[in-house]
Amino acid sequence: LESKLPTLGTTIFTTMSALAQKVGAINLSQGFPDFSGPEYLQQRLAYHVQQGANQYAPMSGIPALREAISKKINRCYNSHVDPETEITVTAGATEALFSVITALVRAGDEVICFEPSYDSYAPAVELAGGTMKHVRLTPPDFSPNWSEFSALITDKTRLVILNTPHNPTASVWQKKDFEALWQAIADKPILVLSDEVYEHICFEQAGHYSLLQHPELRARGIAVSSFGKTYHMTGWKVGYCVAPPALTTEIRKIHQYLTFSVHTPSQLAIADMLNQVPEHDQELPSFYQQRRDFFINALQSSRFTLLPCQGTYFLLLDYSAISTMNDVDFCIYLTEKIGVAAIPLSVFCKETFPHHLIRVCFAKEEATLRAAAEKLCQL
Ligand code: PMP
Ligand code: GLN
Repeated sequence: LESKLPTLGTTIFTTMSALAQKVGAINLSQGFPDFSGPEYLQQRLAYHVQQGANQYAPMSGIPALREAISKKINRCYNSHVDPETEITVTAGATEALFSVITALVRAGDEVICFEPSYDSYAPAVELAGGTMKHVRLTPPDFSPNWSEFSALITDKTRLVILNTPHNPTASVWQKKDFEALWQAIADKPILVLSDEVYEHICFEQAGHYSLLQHPELRARGIAVSSFGKTYHMTGWKVGYCVAPPALTTEIRKIHQYLTFSVHTPSQLAIADMLNQVPEHDQELPSFYQQRRDFFINALQSSRFTLLPCQGTYFLLLDYSAISTMNDVDFCIYLTEKIGVAAIPLSVFCKETFPHHLIRVCFAKEEATLRAAAEKLCQL
């Protein structure tokens, strides 16, 4: 069989979680909490199932959920979004990203992305017939070089993909970064896709700055988020994208034949959660900051160098003082011999990544983090 994606293997998250399970390692690789989301949300899910809300939801999402998302966006970003024409509920952020890219990237188009970057963007661009161009982000602050960015723009550039708070580097963009992006593309017909799934997991004093707060970028941009992160329920796979009506029309053309619609009772339960417990997302920064600081503290005596973590539930560890292995081999060694699974950073890059960095997830119970830190401190 001639593959459409001949160089693409299995995603690193599947590979590392499977290895962790096989050898019984503590799994800090794939990003998911080892605790459950709010009791109230779980009760509402059961309630709606029992009430018989078990048939297809409307294609673009249940109106009550789109309304609640719109209110949340207004509350958090002081931005008005029309639930009818600008919000589409998707099967996780993954489906939103794929639908957006498939709808907007045409054969021959170029897409600019900042790397390391989350692994689902590039295959979608390639399937759409587009070409990825990368701006390299370098440690420890991973902030973009805007002249490098501008040098990548051509008359084929169709889309820029950004992600803040950023997976895997845990860096966070400020308003000035969005301003710089706008300056670079203002006079060009370039669209912007902003992956904001960790919007509520931001430790910066300034908080998360959303594309939806920037009027000019908002007019030609798409913001994507996921309830999996916000409610500690990654398995529910409910997300959404926000885009101006003309873009939403195009995105829904793909969404309607990719999944048609999203799990009905989950949408109803999430709408209840957003309406009844709006304070949940404001509590998330301190909730995760506590875990981050607990883990950082537990790693104090280790030989890893810890990089700054401004957002997300990931922390980067530099192992240069421990080993000269490449990061993929080091993660396999760490999983099989030390009993802790992590993600090598080079897999998020197309070109060689000349650093000794691994990503660990701290969305875990303290006991898990303590046990993992004890093992990591042996090295
Ligand atoms: N974007 C980023 C940056 C992510 O880290 C993730 C995953 N966890 C996703 C998108 C996908 O989100 P979902 O699980 O809702 O599909
Ligand atoms: N986003 C999660 C991570 O970065 C994993 C999602 C997945 O497994 N596809 O670890």
